[in-house]
Amino acid sequence: MKNTDFEHKEIEESHIEKDIKNAKEILKRMNPNQKINYHTILTKLISDWENKDIRPKILIHSCCAPCSTYTLEFLTQYADVTVLFANNNIHPKAEYEKRALVQEEFIKKFNERTGNDVGFIEDEYKPMDFYKAVKGLENEKEGGARCTACFQMRLDIVAKKAQELGFDYFGSALTLSPHKNSQLINTLGLEIQEIFDVKYLPSDFKKNNGYKRSVDMCTEYDVYRQCYCGCIFAAMDQGIDLNEYK
Ligand code: SF4
Ligand code: SF4
Repeated sequence: MKNTDFEHKEIEESHIEKDIKNAKEILKRMNPNQKINYHTILTKLISDWENKDIRPKILIHSCCAPCSTYTLEFLTQYADVTVLFANNNIHPKAEYEKRALVQEEFIKKFNERTGNDVGFIEDEYKPMDFYKAVKGLENEKEGGARCTACFQMRLDIVAKKAQELGFDYFGSALTLSPHKNSQLINTLGLEIQEIFDVKYLPSDFKKNNGYKRSVDMCTEYDVYRQCYCGCIFAAMDQGIDLNEYK
């Protein structure tokens, strides 16, 4: 590459960096009393990328393949996406390994069928970090304070990794699940972006028939669907026999 090409590329890249929009700028202009539709915020960001001819790099957290299905189908239309599998909450290790493998295999098949180039990163499995994060909250019901700490732990990991690897945005496919509080996940994501030098990607992937499409895609791709959220506490609450998983 000639020097001038290189300089030109550098100028282009700094221009992209400057132009990457922060969801908070959109939120500031909204009525504070209105319930926020995070899918609408995401579509506003996407229009902005399209107007500026930007294709941002997104690192998206996923805890198993089902929620990543439609999320990838949707996001890859507008951005270069990599999935980060970072789930210290999953117990037992055999179940963690199975979900990681199914996630990776789904991405391979998805890329083959659609011509996309979605990346996959598996983070180190550190279950003790989860037990520390939820200490004192073990007996909370699913959806309560234990889950808030669990979402926060995983969003922190994805934000840190996205910053390290130079992504434009970090986000989570968790908002596709109707069982997860997407208002809470988005609030946490926007708080976490204040700590890191990377922007949070707001989302509510279940909207726009996203959840329904994910169910259809699980059938099309023959994706394994787990029957408990992931941690030992949720499994015990549901009366799951973990010996079967081991
Ligand atoms: S929310 Fe549930 S279904 Fe969705 S990725 Fe996580 S564990 Fe899988
Ligand atoms: S129920 Fe799910 S979200 Fe809640 S703490 Fe357990 S693994 Fe995390």
